[in-house]
This record gives sequence, structure tokens and C-alpha cells, in this order.
Amino acid sequence: MTAGAVPTEAELDLSAFWMPFTDNRSFKANPRLFVSAKDMHYVAVDGRPVLDGSAGLWCVNAGHCRAPIVEAIREQAGEMDFATPFQLGHPKAFELASRLAELMPVGLDRIFFTNSGSESADTALKMALAYHRARGEGGRTRLIGRARGYHGVNFGGTSVGGITGNRRLFGAQVWGVDHLSHTHQRPTPFTRGAPAPNDGLAAELEARIALHGADTIAAVIVEPVAGSAGVLPPPVGYLQRLRELTAQHGILLIFDEVISGFGRLGAATAADQFGVVPDILTMAKGLTNGAVPMGAVAASRAIHDAVVEGAPAGIEFPHGYTYSGHVLAAAAGLATLKLYADEDLFARSASLAGKWEDAVHSLREAPHVVDIRNIGLMAGIELAPRPGRTGERAREVFHRCFDEGLLIRVTADIIALSPPLIISEAQIDEIVGRIADVLRRTH
Ligand code: PLP
Repeated sequence: MTAGAVPTEAELDLSAFWMPFTDNRSFKANPRLFVSAKDMHYVAVDGRPVLDGSAGLWCVNAGHCRAPIVEAIREQAGEMDFATPFQLGHPKAFELASRLAELMPVGLDRIFFTNSGSESADTALKMALAYHRARGEGGRTRLIGRARGYHGVNFGGTSVGGITGNRRLFGAQVWGVDHLSHTHQRPTPFTRGAPAPNDGLAAELEARIALHGADTIAAVIVEPVAGSAGVLPPPVGYLQRLRELTAQHGILLIFDEVISGFGRLGAATAADQFGVVPDILTMAKGLTNGAVPMGAVAASRAIHDAVVEGAPAGIEFPHGYTYSGHVLAAAAGLATLKLYADEDLFARSASLAGKWEDAVHSLREAPHVVDIRNIGLMAGIELAPRPGRTGERAREVFHRCFDEGLLIRVTADIIALSPPLIISEAQIDEIVGRIADVLRRTH
């Protein structure tokens, strides 16, 4: 692997790019750039390999620059660059929708394409509203999210999301939104996998239904495993109970599977893994292995038919994006799903989960570690914050790891790990060993 002929950090003008979710001032004072990637590694601008402990940003599940995906994109780019998805189409979007429908939990076989997880969340919320209205229940407009939930950054997703720092700047947002408590209440530290049942959590939904009236509530949206808030697996039975309550009261259940989909937990979806089928399931990231932006929403046949078959002639759902089902993304998505199947990567993820769990929990005695959580090939390692300086310690660990050849992700004082599903056992040990070493040298 070589870095190739790229400008050095010193030669680049970093001022124009207003970077997303970034401390722009400190990044630009001390930039860290990648220039290439292959399989489990990035290459930094100075030519150093960096082991990928976070699948890019929870998205490169099959590893980087995999030949079948690269070739599919290359070939498609030379054949047709764009076709409008409004009142026209191209075969690959239909093919990809069919492949996805096969992968989704039974019944979620109507696929709407977006370009990101954020767009998927907002699309799902609008679908829920349209569904109720189409059935003559237009009074169901209330949306219920969860504290510490993350559903992207558009207005709907920000509103139902519950990471306080992501909401504070942006005013009142969408009206009529309520939040359940997050699932990480009175945790037993160092729990392996899903924590013990906590009936009070789902019971909160009953209280909200009593408060607002079921006939005002359109949907409940949750991540099956909260990812961005620091890997919070759901207590045993929690998702099942949400499903029972929503079904009982005619409320739609939306699973945001932007992180948990495509083998992260072992099965194709968390819905499959937990045996709970929502009404709508959102995805993005691993759909194209991160290679071309794309998201999708899988809706139940009942929702699709209510909105589409029940509408007067004409456009049934006035929603969509110029790049919905973009041909380059569709080509990447088809190649990605084939690669997952050819290499049986979801089963590989499941088979590595035990080794992963043991490895990450070996960090229990490392300095500053106050909790470790894991599920599938995900882990959250929580550090004690420095007094009055939340996030500083983890940020330092992130920078040291990067400088020493390991990419991790940190949020507040939590290290979040989610390697590509092709990771080897030796590389799992390397990730954990590197973090332990860095923690020993961090005050
Ligand atoms: N939903 C969840 C659960 C996510 O984790 C993310 C991103 O991490 C999103 C939505 C937003 O996805 P995007 O950044 O592609 O808009």
C-alpha cells in the first residue's frame, strides 16, 4: 500500500471545507488525513497503515476497496451516470430493491431509496404519517423517539433523536414529539451482551399512550441497539414489549437499522437477530459498504398498499430525492449484497462475536475503564471523564490510537468499536492490545 502522489497536510489549504461533526479549529490545527484504503487498513497521508476498528463510520462491513464493488462502480460509471428516478427509472434500482426485500424480515418487502441514514429516518417518519392519513386516521401525528437515540441530522431525525448536544442549537424542531427514556438505566457495569430485563422501560410507552391517547400517536422510532450514543444494547425482552404495545394500539414501530443492519449483530438485520419485526426499517451505511452514499427504507406491504393502492390516480407519495436509487449506488449496492452472500459475512460476524466479547472485556482492568458493553461485532468502552472536562480523555486516546496505527471512534468518553466483518482474530487482539497500551499511557 502506498500513499501515492498526494499533497501533504502542510500543502493543503484546509480553510474552505466546513467539516461535519468536527471540532474544525482543533482538526485544522492538527489535521489527520487518509489517502487510501484496502481491506482492514487505511493509509494515512504520511504512508502509515491504520487498522480500521470502526468500519470507517460503521459502514465498511466488507472491508475497504473490495474488488467486486470497485469494479461494479467503475463499470457503471462508464455506462450510465444518472437516470431520473421520477416517473422513469433504470433496472438496477429495481433489482436492488428485490434483493433487499429478500434480505429484510418477512413482510417488509417494499423498498424506498434515499441517500443517507438521515434521509431514511425522515422518509420513514413521513411514511408513517401518510399511512395513518391514508387510512382515515390523520389525527395520528405524534412521533415518539428515545433519549440518547440518533436518527441523523435532518429535522425529523433531529427531533425524534435524543442526543442533547445534537439538538440544542436548533430550536423547537418538529412539534408533537415525545421521548422515552434511554435503555441504559441503572446499568450493571461490564454486562456481556443484552442486559437483564427492565420492564419499566417499555412501560413508559404505556404511560405516553395514556397521556396523549393512542389515536394521536403515529409511530415509535428506536435504534434496536443505540450506536452513536455509545453502544447501548437493549435489555432482554424490551424490543418485544415495544412491539406488543405498538401493535396493540395501532402505532407503527420503526427500527433504525442504519448501524445494526447488514451483519453487524450477526443476522442481516437486528430485527432478525432479536426476532422482532417492525413495520418500517431504515438502513444506509453497509448497504453499499460505504462506497457510494445510499440509504433505504423497507416498509410493510400494508403500509405501502395503504399509501399507494389506496390513493387516487397520480403520484401517491410526494416524497423522494433526485438521487433516490442512483444508478452508481445501485450498482455498488448489488455488488455489496452479493459479496456479503458470497463470503457469508453475516455468519462470519456471528462466529466472531464470542472472541470479540472476550477480547473487549479483557480491557476491564485497563486504566480509566468504568464499563464495557458489547453485542455482535460492536463494543462500547466507557472511560471515566476527567473532572469538568468531559470527552477530553477519550479524544486523547483517539488521537494516540490514530498516531499509532488504529482507527477507533469516540463519543464523549466512550470508545465505540465496530470493525469490518472480515476482521481476523489476530486483528481483534491487535485492536484491544493497542487500546490497552494507549490507556496505560493516558492520565
Ligand atoms: N441513524 C442511525 C442509527 C445512525 O447511526 C446514523 C449515522 O450514524 C444515521 C441515522 C444517520 O446516517 P447518515 O449520517 O448517513 O445521515
